[in-house]
Amino acid sequence: LICLSESSPCRRCCSVYPRAPVRFNHLPLGFLSPVILLDSKAQQTELEWISYPPNGWEEISGLDENYTPIRTYQVCQVMEPNQNNWLRTNWIEKGDAQRIFVELKFTLRDCNSLPGVVGTCKETFNLYYQETDSEVGRSLRENQYVKIDTIAADESFTQGDLGERKMKLNTEVRIIGPLSRRGFYLAFQDVGACIALVSVKVYYKKCWSIIENLATFPDTVTGSEFSSLVEVEGMCVSDAEEEADNSPKMHCSAEGEWLVPIGKCICKAGFHQKGDACEPCGRGFYKSSSQDLQCSRCPAHSFNDREGSWRCDCEDGYYRALSDPPSVACTRPPSAPQNLVYNINQTTVSLEWSPPADTGGRNDVSYRVICRRCSWEPEECVPCGPNVGYSPAQSGLVDTYVTIMDLLAHANYTFEVEAVNGVSDLSRTQRLFAAVSIATGQAAPSQVSEVIKEKVQQRSIQLSWQEPHQPNGVITEYEIKYYEKDQKDRIYSTVRSKSTSATVNNLKPSTAYVFQIRAFTEAGYGTYGPRLEITTKEEATAAIVSSEQNPVIIIAVVAVAGTIILVFMVFGFIIGRRHCGYSKADQEGDEELYFQFKFPGTKTYIDPETYEDPNRAVHQFAKELDASCIKIERVIGAGEFGEVCSGRLKLPGKRDVSVAIKTLKVGYTEKQRREFLCEASIMGQFDHPNVVHLEGVVTRGKPVMIVIEYMENGSLDAFLRKHDGQFTVIQLVGMLRGIAAGMRYLSDMGYVHRDLAARNILVNSNLVCKVSDFGLSRVIDDDPEAVYTTTGGKIPVRWTAPEAIQYRKFTSASDVWSYGIVMWEVMSYGERPYWDMSNQDVIKAIEEGYRLPAPMDCPPGLHQLMLDCWQKDRAERPKFDQIVGILDKMIRNPNTLKTPVGTCTRPISPLLDQSTPDFTAFRSVGEWLEAIKMERYRDNFTAAGYSSLESVARMSIEDVMSLGITLVGHQKKIMSSIQTMRAQMLHLHGTGVQV
Ligand code: AMP
Repeated sequence: LICLSESSPCRRCCSVYPRAPVRFNHLPLGFLSPVILLDSKAQQTELEWISYPPNGWEEISGLDENYTPIRTYQVCQVMEPNQNNWLRTNWIEKGDAQRIFVELKFTLRDCNSLPGVVGTCKETFNLYYQETDSEVGRSLRENQYVKIDTIAADESFTQGDLGERKMKLNTEVRIIGPLSRRGFYLAFQDVGACIALVSVKVYYKKCWSIIENLATFPDTVTGSEFSSLVEVEGMCVSDAEEEADNSPKMHCSAEGEWLVPIGKCICKAGFHQKGDACEPCGRGFYKSSSQDLQCSRCPAHSFNDREGSWRCDCEDGYYRALSDPPSVACTRPPSAPQNLVYNINQTTVSLEWSPPADTGGRNDVSYRVICRRCSWEPEECVPCGPNVGYSPAQSGLVDTYVTIMDLLAHANYTFEVEAVNGVSDLSRTQRLFAAVSIATGQAAPSQVSEVIKEKVQQRSIQLSWQEPHQPNGVITEYEIKYYEKDQKDRIYSTVRSKSTSATVNNLKPSTAYVFQIRAFTEAGYGTYGPRLEITTKEEATAAIVSSEQNPVIIIAVVAVAGTIILVFMVFGFIIGRRHCGYSKADQEGDEELYFQFKFPGTKTYIDPETYEDPNRAVHQFAKELDASCIKIERVIGAGEFGEVCSGRLKLPGKRDVSVAIKTLKVGYTEKQRREFLCEASIMGQFDHPNVVHLEGVVTRGKPVMIVIEYMENGSLDAFLRKHDGQFTVIQLVGMLRGIAAGMRYLSDMGYVHRDLAARNILVNSNLVCKVSDFGLSRVIDDDPEAVYTTTGGKIPVRWTAPEAIQYRKFTSASDVWSYGIVMWEVMSYGERPYWDMSNQDVIKAIEEGYRLPAPMDCPPGLHQLMLDCWQKDRAERPKFDQIVGILDKMIRNPNTLKTPVGTCTRPISPLLDQSTPDFTAFRSVGEWLEAIKMERYRDNFTAAGYSSLESVARMSIEDVMSLGITLVGHQKKIMSSIQTMRAQMLHLHGTGVQV
């Protein structure tokens, strides 16, 4: 016997065999063990069934064919007619059963073998049943029984048989059901036969619990109908799961057989099938999915030290991309690309490289390029932003080349090329890349696209436009090209403008014109912007005629004009008298009136102090900003009234822009607040690309703020000192041209700066210089260069014209003097004018006619312009307008700016004796190097045998370079000092010489 379950009829076996694991599915085919409800043979004691009438059925002990003692019931009333003998079993509880099998074994005597029984002897008996929910006592009512069948013997026996003890045992099986009560009785009706009921077995059939396809199917009772199949859901064994959309099912047949298996369970990830169970994968193995049949060994560069793993972990430094299946090896980021080379064409850079030596074990290597612009300071690199173009793309590059376009001209860039693969972003190790630093060349400006028609007349059109998005240098001119739209042969005319507006005259009335504008820099013309079509106004002849004919109108016009002029004069007078913080009275008088009336159409500067209420002045000229639009990011400097910060300004509907934010420190007095905002009231009146632009003010909150466009490179003097010797002459002249243009604008507006100096010029990331520092009190309090003069008032002596020092005559012409000093500062990379001479000595030397010499490498033309700015007679000095013109010419003809190294003409004058260190007084080369702060090269000079100052004075630039001094700025500094030393030596020997 195979043990089936504890509820099975062979329970005893179960105690013999271990309880688990119990396996059922390998039962021999056809083994269908029923559940026995009654087995008369199994009972050794009396059955005690009810027999009626008492002389009918009789319980008799006997032996079966195997000589096993059994209990039988017998009846043999064959002689008497009308027999009706009943035998009823004890109550049989049916349990789960629906269809009950009744198996009868009996012997039946052949009537023919009995003499004298004809008519009374029968060879059949009847089988009945009665359903009840409980036992009903020992009375027997025939009419309550339902007949199952009349049972006849297949084989009856004779006396002879009996004698031979060869009983012909009949076996008959009958089925009853479906049953609905809890139990039932069976009854046997004898009607005159000679029968021995050898055994009565009552049972029903079950499909026994089974594991099939890793699913357990529980014990299941067969259906009530012979043909019915009971569908049973299987339960997956532990660590198994149902196959998707294929849950395990079987059908229990009426015969207790499992039929038609459908669906199955499969071992979960991390487990594999062993027999009818799922066992965990061993260490170093994994199974990633229930679909896989077997556990697999961990792929390369991965491991696991647990049982039942669905995947293996990567070794340190190795990764698996999200899309990598667990079956692939762990990989790592590639090494850096190799052999990165570049090629620059103006503002386009091509990069090419070779694949990395190590792809990290993957074949999805691509490349990405990171572009940073380095603002002339390598550690101050910022991402290039969205205006730079990449071809074919910036990242995801499959091929080993890329072209980067639309870079800024004359700018430093660093490009990093990184090889990446599917696991690069997972790696926390340092990025590996190949990098190059590149300086772009010059390039033409980008398109002028935002053109506005300001005024359209009958014969003229006034246009204004924005500077191109990428000027790529200093724009010296715009060209406006136009033609009549309907003209067949499209003859173009051009007009040039130095500013961002122009009026095109001599047009025909009522005619459509097409305009296009392009910008010009030292790199040439940019491309034309989009076409703009404008139609001039109709000729309004009638109005002219009528005004000509109507003297009343003429008189009225004259009267109105006269009034306006009168108001202007009175207003100008007031402006001249009233001022902010300190005496600006020098702006009064002819010159200022001249400025105000010289360009009646030009905007004129209004001194904010002419306003009774300074708050009104601020709001007249400056936009009040909402503090919530401003994000302060970091402190970048200290202003007179508080910190200067950088940050971002985001106005509704506009792109956010970088700004500098000047704040007014807490605890200020009303006077300080007024003076602080005065700068905004002045700056707010200006609108020029070379004048720092005011974004607005915050006066209705604290802190009070002035928000200005952000100038990435800070003040010009410090910027130049930081980048000593790094710019071309053209770049320096470009900067000077910008400053001059800004000053031309300011002087055209009638504004006198008074403190023009490189420290008050700001530089943006495109090297565009802008005039700044408009605080009215600045010269007194703010400028550390300002000192009290004998005439009273504080003055930045080195930058100020003699007439302004002596009798406070500040005019645009005195600003021109200061501009000359700025030129000298720029060309000498931020050297201090007149070096360490005292202010008194400077005043005296200037009075005596001495002027600063040309800085190192300074083109003679530029030094001449400086000298012109330093004319004693201010009327002789050039106007800013002329200065801009001269510089533009130089930019257009770079040949005029060429100066062979060390051939700059220098006036040898006592000024030099006073201002520069007296090189002839140095006793050794070491002392001299120390004085010019180049002592780090002492050993270089000694090693090359330059032991005396005389030998140093004879050195050429090549000699300096041959010492191993590679920094251009240092070469220039040393060379400049050598030249001065040489000049001083010559001068000492009494010769004025050109060196
Ligand atoms: P100021 O009070 O104008 O002399 O400003 C003090 C310092 O703040 C200057 O020397 C600059 O370094 C810095 N600064 C002022 N304005 C700006 C600006 N618009 N952009 C960048 N830095 C600025």
